Amino acid sequence: MLKARASLLNRVLARSYATAASPHALVFLEHRQGDLDSASLSALTAASQLGGQVTGLVVGSPEEVPSVVEKAKKLNGLTTLLHSASPQYSTLLPETVSPLLEKLLSQNSPFTHVVSAHSSSAKSILPRVAAKLDVPAVSDITSLEHDAASGSTTFTRPIYAGNAISTVRASSSIPIKFFTVRSTAFAAAGAGDAVESEVKALDSVEVSDAPTEHISTSLTKSDRPDLGVASRVVSGGRALKNAETFQSTLYPLADALGAAVGASRAAVDAGYADNSLQVGQTGKVVAPELYMALGISGAIQHLAGMKDSKLIVAVNKDPDAPIFQVADVGLVADLFEVVPEMVEKLKQ
Ligand code: FAD
Repeated sequence: MLKARASLLNRVLARSYATAASPHALVFLEHRQGDLDSASLSALTAASQLGGQVTGLVVGSPEEVPSVVEKAKKLNGLTTLLHSASPQYSTLLPETVSPLLEKLLSQNSPFTHVVSAHSSSAKSILPRVAAKLDVPAVSDITSLEHDAASGSTTFTRPIYAGNAISTVRASSSIPIKFFTVRSTAFAAAGAGDAVESEVKALDSVEVSDAPTEHISTSLTKSDRPDLGVASRVVSGGRALKNAETFQSTLYPLADALGAAVGASRAAVDAGYADNSLQVGQTGKVVAPELYMALGISGAIQHLAGMKDSKLIVAVNKDPDAPIFQVADVGLVADLFEVVPEMVEKLKQ
């Protein structure tokens, strides 16, 4: 086993040293209901910043893959698009997807970097493959710089709930550099009409003895924009009192603004809002054009998820609430008085 791993690593090493100066990134492109995830498009932008070739990888069920490939092959920045279809890829279980990546990275492949969004699936898959190849993985990066001369790549990533920025250099001695990308830090790559990337199908790597099995997925239906990509977010905190007032106070404002709804962890823990709406260190990281924090104190763990928003508006009864330290517009007021007034004004 150890011998097999050493020989795999040696093959990877030998190939990679030869191409140290010319980066070639493999970007894992995730998709949902036939559409590419916007976070993966941000990962593609990050991969393009390495300054070399970029190959995309789409995996999924045989029903999904063809239409996703049609969209992905037009993406700006992609030179080649690989795809692999199998029923076992209908959900991205790390146990079934990782062997495909491992095979791809160990067969004299040209890849120097493996890139993905910092998504829940990729967070499980990439470190697993990196560990198998005995290389480190850098997670949740917000910027990168590749030095073509030395073959090293330097990343920044927020740590301690965004209160410090860590700079990490992956030297040329790391044959394949794995990293996940914080989507709010990179614009999403778009599609162009000009050149389509070269498309190649890959055989799936069937795993017969996977220890986990996907049973079902239940999607929350909402007419509101998705919190992760919305350009406007209206978030509520513990001050909203209960689930009924959370909805009756926040939702009309969100609807009037065409905004997604978010929540503090206190609001989620108290059952006012669904867990999927949590913004912060242990929730979603958002950076919309407008973020409204209503009755949210501004604990560092909440700020970690929203402080990069372009315009932050806070309403809080307490003039000393920490949220005002990051707010561009602050209103010391009772939200139950001012929010209905805002809705009225917006309707006019
Ligand atoms: P509170 O801190 O209770 O603040 C309520 C605010 O509402 C107060 O400032 C008050 O002045 C104001 N208020 C009350 N009534 C009104 C009114 N009528 N009108 C206007 N203002 C009013 N938190 C997150 O949000 N996201 C995370 O991801 C997260 N992760 C965490 C991870 C860890 C490991 C830990 C330890 C904590 C985490 N937390 C997170 C919790 C965080 O520390 C805070 O406890 C939480 O953010 C507080 O939520 P809140 O601001 O809604 O509640």
